[in-house]
Amino acid sequence: MFYRTIISFVIILFSTSVAFSNETIFNGKFVQGGIVIGQNKHAKEVLFDEKRLQISKDGYFIFGFGRNHKSFSTLKIIKDNKNNVLKYNFDINKSIYKIEKIDGLPKKMVTPGPEFYKKINEDRALIKNSMNEKYVIDKFPLTFIMPTEGRISGIYGSQRILNGVKKNPHGGLDIAAPSGTPIKSTADGKILLAAKGLYYTGNIVIIDHGYDLQSMYIHMKDINIKKGDLVKQGQIIGTVGSTGRSTGPHLHWNVYWKKIRINPKHLISISK
Ligand SMILES: [Zn+2]
Repeated sequence: MFYRTIISFVIILFSTSVAFSNETIFNGKFVQGGIVIGQNKHAKEVLFDEKRLQISKDGYFIFGFGRNHKSFSTLKIIKDNKNNVLKYNFDINKSIYKIEKIDGLPKKMVTPGPEFYKKINEDRALIKNSMNEKYVIDKFPLTFIMPTEGRISGIYGSQRILNGVKKNPHGGLDIAAPSGTPIKSTADGKILLAAKGLYYTGNIVIIDHGYDLQSMYIHMKDINIKKGDLVKQGQIIGTVGSTGRSTGPHLHWNVYWKKIRINPKHLISISK
């Protein structure tokens, strides 16, 4: 038993030194809100902070960091031979977020009246349940495109203080564009939700891209697809609108990895 432990320990050390000669490739930013694509052709199992990742045939996988991710993370790659384990320790850099104060808003824009609570809870359950579905895809390398063109009017992570009330941080990217501007799917995927009239989000689409990656399109005007449809990257899924809790036509775009919001900006930059 003791002998075996020694052996596997030696292999770990050896494998790690091999890793530094680029056995595993990483593309992305190790920063709060960041996302990284990794590849190791011999990966049998990959664990990021002990969470199992989906691996493609060619050994690609994805992991990401939330807005307030801790300062370090570990990645374990278990290779063909179970004792052959690569271990990486990553430092995750801090992100600095904007504070946005907006005063003088009508009260109902800041806190919804109790008559809306039931509707808001139903909407939340609908979104949450839709996101539980998993779509397994084996297409790599994955690339991602901006879903629409326009002025960036809101960024990821900002702390919003409305009429002095601290709200949830802004979780996505806002792209202001005229009502009716086409919205495209950022990558190939499956439609998990296409629904109209939600209290906060208005008309909403959620797409699963595999690898625990999901994108969400909010405040839409028209929706051109339905739940269960398979879409291609660049396919038009609907148009920009101002439905739900919105002050003007724009697309609010969220990106999730394992249901954690990541910065959409970093998703686009790994494709460049
Ligand atoms: Zn927004």
